[in-house]
Amino acid sequence: MRASCATIHLGALRENLRRVRELAPGRKVMAIVKADGYGHGLERVARALEGADGFGVACIADGQRLRAAGVSQRIVVLSGIDEPADLSEMRRLNLESVIHHPTQLEWLAADHDPRPLRVWLKVDSGMHRLGFAQARVREVHARLRELPSVHRDIGLMTHFANSDVFDDPLTMHQIDGFEAATSGLAGERALANSAGVLGWPEAHGDWVRAGGALYGISVVEGRVGADFGFRPAMTLSSRLVAINQLARGDRIGYAATWECPEDMAVGVVAIGYGDGYPRSAASGTPVLLDGRPAPVVGRVSMDLVTIDLRAHPQARIGDTVVLWGRGLPVEEVAACAGTIGYDLTCGVTRRVRFTEE
Ligand code: PLP
Repeated sequence: MRASCATIHLGALRENLRRVRELAPGRKVMAIVKADGYGHGLERVARALEGADGFGVACIADGQRLRAAGVSQRIVVLSGIDEPADLSEMRRLNLESVIHHPTQLEWLAADHDPRPLRVWLKVDSGMHRLGFAQARVREVHARLRELPSVHRDIGLMTHFANSDVFDDPLTMHQIDGFEAATSGLAGERALANSAGVLGWPEAHGDWVRAGGALYGISVVEGRVGADFGFRPAMTLSSRLVAINQLARGDRIGYAATWECPEDMAVGVVAIGYGDGYPRSAASGTPVLLDGRPAPVVGRVSMDLVTIDLRAHPQARIGDTVVLWGRGLPVEEVAACAGTIGYDLTCGVTRRVRFTEE
């Protein structure tokens, strides 16, 4: 059994849901649990977030897992149907499909199942990834309304490209475009992701689709979840497995990228990119030892990371090392690795032991 361990803080998940509700009062919360609950474990997250009004998943397989785990809330498959055969499984499991492309419309039109499927019409308001162009929204909505295979309550949604930059006019442009394309159309509205919840109250609609915030992670540059009242839901830790006394000039790890500036102790931690710790984490990336930071030195390898122990003369083999989570925001580690916190939590691999508290 490797020492690497991801502890999932169920209380933090629940508390973060409460905080989202506080920020978007009166709105329904669709908890986004794609990618195995952003790496925290789909079923465990759904259990902790049983107070959510619905769940958003990437694919039908996730919907199957949630129903098998006893989830009774609404479940929206964000990528929608991938092929006509998906329709019967969606109905069987009472899943809802986003409709973002004319091909999906054709599949629905050719479907004569009498059980109406709930759908969400996705509007491309400016992200230019998924969705119907604003000019087509009324026509598509009308078409969906006349299909007997489609439930008459059609949701309306869009997704923001840059809502984490609170002064980017693109988001207001997207909100205005969505309003113009959908005004007068019946149906629930869902626009805001976590950053939309934080920075764009005019876009809270009927539902907010929060992901990162529920896991306590911020994508707002230079800000961490705690700055907005969120708590980290994952702590990744491991143990010191070796302490080496090295001499000035000794170079460490693959490619010998880091050179000891003096005689010093270097610790070896049993975690690496094979566990999901980012290989791109630069020398200087902090880890926590005994609650205080120690910097990574040298390249991250598959199973091991080396750290500077000069500020930790008391360090002993077996000591716990925190890679991110409580006391060390994942956003800070991600910034040192040139990525975002979501990428790190999603990337924790199967050989890491998961525990919950
Ligand atoms: N809505 C959609 C369609 C998404 O794809 C995502 C995640 O990427 C979200 C909502 C949640 O975004 P966030 O995790 O930033 O809250």
